[in-house]
Order: sequence, then structure tokens, then C-alpha cells
Amino acid sequence: MTNTETQNILVVGSGMSGLTAAIEAAEAGYDTLIVEKNPYLGGRVAQFHHYFPKLCPPLCGLEINFRRIKQNPRIRFFTMAEVETISGEEGNFDVSIRLSPRYVNEKCTCCGKCAEACEMEIDNPFNFGMDKIKAAYLPHDMAFPQRYILDQALVESDEAQKVKGACPYDAIDLEMESKTLKLKVGSIVWATGWKPYDASKLETYGFNNYPDVITNVMMERLASWTGPTRGRIVRPSDGEAPKTVAFIQCAGSRDENHLPFCSGVCCLASMKQATYVREQYPDALIYIFFIDIRATDRLEAFYTRVKEDENIRFFKGKVAKINQDDSGKGLILRVEDTTTEELHEIAADLVVLATGMQPNTSDNPLPIQIPYDDYGFIASKEAIAGVFGAGCSRIPMNVSEAVQDGTAAALKAIQSIARR
Ligand SMILES: Cc1cc2nc3c(=O)[nH]c(=O)nc-3n(C[C@H](O)[C@H](O)[C@H](O)COP(=O)(O)OP(=O)(O)OC[C@H]3O[C@@H](n4cnc5c(N)ncnc54)[C@H](O)[C@@H]3O)c2cc1C
Repeated sequence: MTNTETQNILVVGSGMSGLTAAIEAAEAGYDTLIVEKNPYLGGRVAQFHHYFPKLCPPLCGLEINFRRIKQNPRIRFFTMAEVETISGEEGNFDVSIRLSPRYVNEKCTCCGKCAEACEMEIDNPFNFGMDKIKAAYLPHDMAFPQRYILDQALVESDEAQKVKGACPYDAIDLEMESKTLKLKVGSIVWATGWKPYDASKLETYGFNNYPDVITNVMMERLASWTGPTRGRIVRPSDGEAPKTVAFIQCAGSRDENHLPFCSGVCCLASMKQATYVREQYPDALIYIFFIDIRATDRLEAFYTRVKEDENIRFFKGKVAKINQDDSGKGLILRVEDTTTEELHEIAADLVVLATGMQPNTSDNPLPIQIPYDDYGFIASKEAIAGVFGAGCSRIPMNVSEAVQDGTAAALKAIQSIARR
């Protein structure tokens, strides 16, 4: 190693794959820096109610990882941060990181006095806009770090001084500005994960027109005790309990006009969500409309278990269109049963679109030239020398695969430094 080189590892993204990569590398003795765009760590799974197949709450696993971070001085992290530029080469990258202002500093104790004083409300981004929160807010109940944030609109409003004055700890800094941080790292793990496919592009399903057509990620928030209804699964239009719930698989997936690939997790996610409905409504009728069910290796056992429920009907057919019924309250799904070729019109109170996972790299690529596949995923594990893709930035995967992939990327990042 020359004296300009460094052994530090940069991990971009703090979902399960990035968190794992950072913690494993740090526990192997390497200084690691996490850069996360959100105001909290944890990625998409922080928004989930339960994990398939065990149906345990993701926040437990996240909590263990956050404890490992707190106990390890080798890990540093930045939230509201993005990598702006990368130059140099394996063992000796120059990186600049842009830190956006949170307007709340480390003196915040989460007392909530700022939110109490604040009248301005915004759509809650954590709950996909299904409810409102104060514009001075904690990103979610279990957020790590536990620190409030002020929305830009509040900072620019007449209310800002009042909210600042309400903080007993002098934790609000309205003058906070964006900062750029420059550092050297030896290798990079890129783990920026996925985003839900935009359901408003699925015109025949009326996502923007019918409030009771929601997506699978919204369903996770609806079922969660930290969600907009504190865990009650109800119809967004009127707050009533649904009697019939329909899950539409491959909503946009395996479709040349949308996402041509299979995300591999949506079938299991819908089965998991069917258990959420069943837990709250023992008599509800649940349909799962599918092309093929994808439940590989040991996950087949979860499929078998869910299938045993007589009121969960697996219907082989792709829903062509969703309309509102004559009363304007219910939804009618037009679908062909592909086993009999019969056309059906099926009524449902709540429809959940199983939209797939689109890589964040598809519209926010790395600030250094690397190869991508046709869908925008990082094309190979070692993208270029010293830069490694991990988790769903590389290929759609479930959480246990993301943990394995993060561990593998940590090892590769360490080897990349160690072999120099
Ligand atoms: C509806 C649904 C339900 C699911 N349920 C389950 C389940 O029950 N069990 C299971 O095993 N799997 C489930 N999955 C799959 C699971 O979501 C993924 O395996 C997991 O999120 C992968 O983690 P990741 O770290 O690769 O990505 P992510 O969780 O997407 O994390 C990526 C992180 O990178 C950050 N980021 C993005 N861009 C940038 C940037 N430019 N700079 C800095 N940071 C950035 C993001 O903010 C995020 O924190 C489900 C998927 C769906 C669609």
C-alpha cells in the first residue's frame, strides 16, 4: 500500500444489504462509513409490518443491527447524504458526499415540543402519503437515529421561528446548510436497493382514481402498528373493514411495457399480507390472482401453509381491468380464469397491487462509469475494480439473500484492500 492509499470502506445505502456489509466489515477490523439518503437507517424493511416466512417484525432485526453500530467505533454513518462524485481507483478513491440539512442537531432529545408547536402538516412520506404529520417530525416511531427533522417548507415559513423557540434544548438550527464532505476510501459497496414500481402507470387498474386500490408497500404500512391506522386494515375510502380483499400479482411485472422481469418476492409478500388480513378478519374472503406462483426452495412450505386456508383463493388469471361498481363503493375485477378460459367479474372491497422492485440505480446511477443490465441493475458483483454491488441494486432478492449478499460484498471489499 502506498501512503496515499486507505483501508476505509464506503457503503452507500443502509438497507439490509448495506447495513450488513458495513457491520461485517467493521467487525472484521475495517473502518467503515455508511452514506444514507433517508433521514434514518434501515431501508425498505423499516416500513414492513412482518417478514415472510417467519412473520416476525423487521424492527427486531434492525434493532440488533443498530446496537452493533452503536457499539462499534469503526462505523460512522451519515443520513440525508448522497455521494456526488467518485474518482480515482481501487485502493485510492476520492469521494465527495453531499449532506442535506436536517435543521435539527445532535442536541435533540425527541421530546416532541417542536411538533407540538408546529401547525403546518405534510403528507407522511414514511406512510406513502396515507396520513399527515407535522412538518417537524420524527421520520418514524422506531427511527435510528432518534432525531427530529424539519421539512423545508416549514423552515421557509413564518412558523419556523415559533417552532425553533419551542425547543428547550437549542436543537433547531434554521441556518443549517448543505455541506460537502471529501474523503478517501479504499473500496466501495453500492447497496442503494429498490423502489416500488409506479402503480399510476398501470392505467387499467385505476390506482390514482380508486382510493381502495392500493399497492403492496402501502399494505405493509396499513397493517403496521406504526402505520396510518395504527395497524387496522381498513378501506382508505371510508375506513370500513373489507370483507373481500384481492391481491393482483405481477402488477406491472413480467410485462414488456413495464418491468419485464420477475421480482421473485411479490408472491410471498402477498401471501404474507393475506395472513395480515386473516388475523384481523377471520371471515374475510381473500383472492390471490396470479400467473405462476414463485415460492422457491424452503419458501414452498410457507405457500403450502397459506394454501390450507379455505378462504384464501388462489385464482390463476391476470386481472385485465378494475372498475367501480354501480354503488360507487365496491370494485369489480375483470379476469379470465386461464385454466378454464372463462371470463369472470369478481367484486372486492380492497385491492392490493403487487408491484415489483425497480432498482434505484435505474434513475440514479453511480457517479462513476459502471456496467448495468437491461433493467438498470448493477450488472455484476464487482462492478469495476474496488466497487461492489450488493442487495437489490444488483438483482431483486429477499431479506435473507440481501444479508448474504451484504456479507459477500463486505468480504470482497476487504479483499480488494487487502490484496494491494
Ligand atoms: C411488498 C414487499 C414486501 C416484502 N416483504 C419481504 C419479506 O417479508 N421478507 C423478505 O425476506 N423480503 C421481503 N421483501 C424484499 C425486501 O424488501 C428486500 O429484500 C430488501 O429491502 C433488500 O434490501 P436492500 O438493502 O438491498 O435494499 P433497500 O431496502 O431498498 O435499501 C436501500 C437503501 O439505500 C438507500 N439509498 C437509495 N439510493 C441512495 C443513494 N443514492 N444514496 C444513498 N442511499 C441511497 C435507501 O434510502 C435505502 O435505505 C419485500 C419486498 C416487497 C416489494
